[in-house]
Amino acid sequence: MSWQIAIDGPAASGKSTVAKAIARDLGFEYLDTGAMYRAVALKATRLGVNLEEEDSYKFLDSTTIDFIDSHIYLDGEDVSEAIRNQEMSNKASFVSKFGYVRKVLVAMQQKLASSKNIVMDGRDIGTVVLPNANLKIFLVADVVVRAERRLKERFEKTGESISLEETIEELKARDLQDSTRAISPLRQAEDAVYLDTSKLSVNEVIQEITNLVFKRGYSMENLEQKNVNVEETEVEETPVEEAKAETANEETAKEEALEEVVAEVANEALEEASEEVKKYKEMQLVKGVVVEVQEAQPARKVGQKEIKAKEERVLIELEDGQEGYLFRKDTADIQDDEDLFDLFVEGDEIEVVIKKIFPDGGKFIFSTALVAKRNELLAFENTIKERPILTAKVIKQVSDFGLLMKYEDFTCLLPTQLTATPKEEFASLIGKELEVVPVRVDLSRIRIIVSEIHATMKKQRAAKKEFLSKVEVGQVYDGVVKNIESYGAFVELGEGVEGLLHISEVDHNRIAKIEKVLNTGDTVKVQVIKVEKDHIGLSRKALLPNHWANYFDGKELGDVVSGKVIEINKAGVRVDLATEIEGFIPKSEFSWERDLVLEDAVKVGDELSGKLIEIAQSKRRVILSIKQLSANPWETVAVAEGDVIEVTIAAVQEEGFKVTYNGLNGYMSKGTVKSRDPQSIQVGETIKVKVRVFNASKQRFIVSMRDAEEKVEKENFNKYMKSQDKMSNTFGDYISNLKK
Ligand code: C5P
Repeated sequence: MSWQIAIDGPAASGKSTVAKAIARDLGFEYLDTGAMYRAVALKATRLGVNLEEEDSYKFLDSTTIDFIDSHIYLDGEDVSEAIRNQEMSNKASFVSKFGYVRKVLVAMQQKLASSKNIVMDGRDIGTVVLPNANLKIFLVADVVVRAERRLKERFEKTGESISLEETIEELKARDLQDSTRAISPLRQAEDAVYLDTSKLSVNEVIQEITNLVFKRGYSMENLEQKNVNVEETEVEETPVEEAKAETANEETAKEEALEEVVAEVANEALEEASEEVKKYKEMQLVKGVVVEVQEAQPARKVGQKEIKAKEERVLIELEDGQEGYLFRKDTADIQDDEDLFDLFVEGDEIEVVIKKIFPDGGKFIFSTALVAKRNELLAFENTIKERPILTAKVIKQVSDFGLLMKYEDFTCLLPTQLTATPKEEFASLIGKELEVVPVRVDLSRIRIIVSEIHATMKKQRAAKKEFLSKVEVGQVYDGVVKNIESYGAFVELGEGVEGLLHISEVDHNRIAKIEKVLNTGDTVKVQVIKVEKDHIGLSRKALLPNHWANYFDGKELGDVVSGKVIEINKAGVRVDLATEIEGFIPKSEFSWERDLVLEDAVKVGDELSGKLIEIAQSKRRVILSIKQLSANPWETVAVAEGDVIEVTIAAVQEEGFKVTYNGLNGYMSKGTVKSRDPQSIQVGETIKVKVRVFNASKQRFIVSMRDAEEKVEKENFNKYMKSQDKMSNTFGDYISNLKK
């Protein structure tokens, strides 16, 4: 059976800090549902959709949100930092009121929670997401306390600093929005435990909730199910074991000493462990009264009976009558020349830590040295707040649970989940020094919980900050594509610093999909073109030759350019003008001739010249016109019906000939060829014809060879008549004269 803990409450009540720590301590998964609403707000903002419209959030159908190593990934991009600012806090609260957004996220959350031991925090976890959670907590705190916490957290994470008043107002506005929205408003589930954290430290809250978890029946079987063998750890981590963690000599000495004590106490055959004894825990701080200070006794013989040596010790009675001993070596601040008698007097009230419980014997071993250590730990809490990176030495592995370490005089536990090294390699770490960050003190075991991951992250953050501070406009980097979105690619420049390579900056040519040019994992040379806070704008095209600009430099509309034909299609002709520059000659711009068949006029590979009539860089469109290189012959060539002119045969067709005259294309029917055999007429030949039809608007130009011949004959006859000057001459005379 999986175990679920639901933590709800208003903004900045400490939910996530506490939820994370509990998850870590118990080996549970942690799910920050607020981060999911923030991620939705971030995507909506980036897409530029109308935030007010519920339909705008349909993009969630194709959105992925994942949690890996406490980082949140939106469509594969790590947005853990991008969602943590005031803008996203407010927008998340806004988007969370839409039913559609809630429906999608709640379904995701329930899926992520299924059959896992999980701690989830949010606003509707106990009421909607996990209505059957084993433990529900409603965490609240005074708004001023919350504002102070939020300010501090924000400053530490982002360096953002706003005033306390502003933060209070921001939180109040969010509380109002979250608790008054129509769907799943923030409210305490009926069966939730109300916990006001205003006056509690983080550790106290964690302790309180952890106690509740165990009270609610969370047991070792649950842990075993999770493969975190805490039971074994609990046994291994007794002070006896921790003593072993000292240096080699000390280790053996202490172990021996302790075993003696164990044997001695056992020999005394104390009563069976009672229910009273069971309620105590090792390392617990308790109050007691000194009953008797017993002197050391050497080994001796009384009659036949051997009496063993006894160490000096103090018999202490707890408030409920339970008794135990404090031995010299567990006594704080005792000098070599002092006896326990010098320090303790019967009737003294005394605070001790239970160092060991012998359940079967019902006796305790107390320690005041551990009280001192506990106090040192409490003092160390201030240092923890600063999250320094400490160098601690690995002493031993504690089964699968983690590593026991020593920092100065403190014992530290580095839980497996917080190490940067795989569990299988733990053995190789023993005796080595690791950099860790103290996370919290664990008073129940008098030790510090440390995290190597936090130290790594802190170092990474510092390296990132340092890297970022050096990024300047104009710099060129070999970056690695981390993530691709429809609007651009995120490229890592180094140390986790990423910049956005907007789709318009990928290439000089317009590209429809980035994936056609770049893929995740590719190395790409980019230039920084913008730095605004931690937003970096990149350009790839700035480093690529700009073929377009180079080609059109000095050229303008009307100029004549030439290129090779690469394709002829129904619409026109494509020509290759230069590298990556293509021109197009629409069919209508090819010739003044209306019925031109392109395939007859041009073939692939031909070199063509045309006039630039359109240059549209954004569309990468270059349009050329060939016909505009010459004037429209239909308007300029002077021809009239009846004129006799000389045309050139351009092509022989079935029924006639295609002819040209000063750029005009016309037609001559074979039927008009009388004086010659039409078969003998060759392309390129010049022939005298008479214009039968000339209609410029309809582009009709028809000529006749016979008409021209007749016209010429008639003119010659008329000339002849004039030259004979005799009215009696007949046409027969004229013909016979011609034959002479
Ligand atoms: O917890 P955090 O401040 O990150 O949440 C951001 C916003 O997301 C909250 O103000 C709230 O409006 C919304 N939210 C929600 N339900 C959740 C978690 C968060 O409505 N379970």
